Amino acid sequence: MAHMFVQDAEEILDKEFKILDHGFVRLVDYMGSDSRIVQSARVSYGPGTKTVRDDTRLINYLMKHGHTSPFEQVVLTFHVKMPIFVARQWARHRTARTNEISGRYSIMPADCYLPERLPLQSTDNKQGSSAESLPSELSAELVQRMADDQTRLYAHYQDLIDKGVSREIARINLPLALYTEMYWQIDLHNLFHFLKQRLDSHAQYEIRCYANVIADIVKKVAPIAWDAFEEHVLFAKTFSRSELEQMKKI
Ligand SMILES: Cc1cc2nc3c(=O)[nH]c(=O)nc-3n(C[C@H](O)[C@H](O)[C@H](O)COP(=O)(O)OP(=O)(O)OC[C@H]3O[C@@H](n4cnc5c(N)ncnc54)[C@H](O)[C@@H]3O)c2cc1C
Repeated sequence: MAHMFVQDAEEILDKEFKILDHGFVRLVDYMGSDSRIVQSARVSYGPGTKTVRDDTRLINYLMKHGHTSPFEQVVLTFHVKMPIFVARQWARHRTARTNEISGRYSIMPADCYLPERLPLQSTDNKQGSSAESLPSELSAELVQRMADDQTRLYAHYQDLIDKGVSREIARINLPLALYTEMYWQIDLHNLFHFLKQRLDSHAQYEIRCYANVIADIVKKVAPIAWDAFEEHVLFAKTFSRSELEQMKKI
């Protein structure tokens, strides 16, 4: 029982899940599953699992009480293509191992992200977008202007490369909308932490698109742990001391 084989995960290995206009997420590999969580929690030989009911109960207990280390025994590796502004948010999650395409070494591909709509600035959240967008005619005109800017910047980049300028300097005016690619390896405990933050409605729409696809992949690799995460973390709420005091009064 050394290598854990999960049929649902095997079926999606290497499959590109398209995201936004040019992005994707691909599950490159996984190590461990629900059984590895219970096996490592019990530090047992062989399958280490008991009945599905016992395993489910144990995984829920671990998740509910914050016994996180058994979840770290499950590791997933992704290949992700995302706009640079998404990659910058992504990189803040330090508990992962990353290898990104090098703009010093390679010619950057021309793919740039264009939003489908132009949301207005939110009035109640200084960081976010409102649900309302610019009127569609104006939006189309401005999106076209963004596309023209991207085309011009990339053409200038190409021109610098053609004239022999080093790739590391030629790239510095490229836009944040340009796509980059990375290999991203993370354990399940820290992946849940990433998903808790990036599935949230306060996270930017574009990174949420990636988080949603990664969540679907996690459901296939470790379905019982996923359910426990939804139950005790993702859809759970914690209360402060004064909130609890208020609730007791009510
Ligand atoms: C909606 C949203 C808005 C945000 N806005 C901003 C912003 O305006 N500006 C900004 O700069 N960032 C912003 N961030 C990024 C945010 O502050 C975090 O850096 C990011 O979400 C990663 O969280 P983390 O540090 O908990 O995760 P990880 O880096 O994955 O760390 C996981 C946990 O490991 C521990 N840890 C990791 N590294 C160390 C270390 N070196 N020392 C001690 N403990 C460590 C911490 O307990 C941490 O919670 C935003 C994030 C979100 C989701």
